[in-house]
Amino acid sequence: MTKKIIIAIDGYSSTGKSTVARQLAKALGYIYVDTGAMYRAVTLYAMEQGFVGPSHFDQEALENCLSLINIRFEVSKETGFAEVVLNNTNVEKKIRTLEVSRLVSPVAAVSKVRRKLVEQQQLMGKDRGIVMDGRDIGTVVFPNAELKLFMTATAKDRAERRYKELLDRGEDVTYEDVLKNVVNRDHIDSTRKDSPLRKAEDAVMIDNSNLTLVEQFDQILEIAKGAINKA
Ligand code: C5P
Repeated sequence: MTKKIIIAIDGYSSTGKSTVARQLAKALGYIYVDTGAMYRAVTLYAMEQGFVGPSHFDQEALENCLSLINIRFEVSKETGFAEVVLNNTNVEKKIRTLEVSRLVSPVAAVSKVRRKLVEQQQLMGKDRGIVMDGRDIGTVVFPNAELKLFMTATAKDRAERRYKELLDRGEDVTYEDVLKNVVNRDHIDSTRKDSPLRKAEDAVMIDNSNLTLVEQFDQILEIAKGAINKA
C-alpha cells in the first residue's frame, strides 16, 4: 500500500491554492482542508457579534468568546465539495464576500485565534492523506509535511482572478477594490508577528502567472507523485 502523506500548500492571496489543492486531493483520494475558510468563519462570527467592522476591532471581546465558536466542514450534496459550518449554520457563501476579505487579516493576526485553529488543523491531519492550504501550513501547522508548495503570481493576475470570481457570485465590486484588498492582505499576512506568511525553506515555489490551470495541475501532480514514492 502506498504511504499517505501531508501536502502543505501556502502562498499569497488568490494564487489559486484552493483550486489546485482540491484537484490534487481528488486525484489522490485525499482529504482537502481550506484553512482560509476557517479564519473567514471566525471573522464572520466577530462581524455578526459586532466585534469587528470597517473602523473598529474589539480583540479582547473576540478572545473571550473563542470557546463559543465551533467550525466544521460538511460535504455539500450539490457540489460534492466541503463547505464551512459555523455553529451549525452553513456559511460557505457568506464567508467569501469582499466584506469578510477586508476584515479577515487583522482577525487572523490574533495569536489566540491562530492557536485554536492550528490545533484543530493538526488534528485533521493526524492520519495524513491530506492536502491543506493556507499561509502557515508548511511553516507552523505541519513543519514536517512530506511535500510543501509555495504559490505565487503577480498581484495583477491574482486580482483579476478574484475579481472574476466575485462578479460570477453576483457581488458588486470594482477591480481596483479587489486589487487593493489582495495587496493589503498580503502585507498584513506577511508582516504579522505570529506565523507570518513566508515560504518554508524546503517548499517548492510555483509561479503560476503564465500557467494554465491544466499545466499547473499536471506539474503539481507529478511533484506530488514523486513525493509519495519517496515517502
Ligand atoms: O485563503 P484565504 O484567502 O481564504 O484566506 C483568508 C485570510 O485568512 C488570509 O488573508 C489570512 O489573513 C488568513 N489565513 C491565515 N492563515 C491560514 C489561512 C488563512 O492567516 N493558514
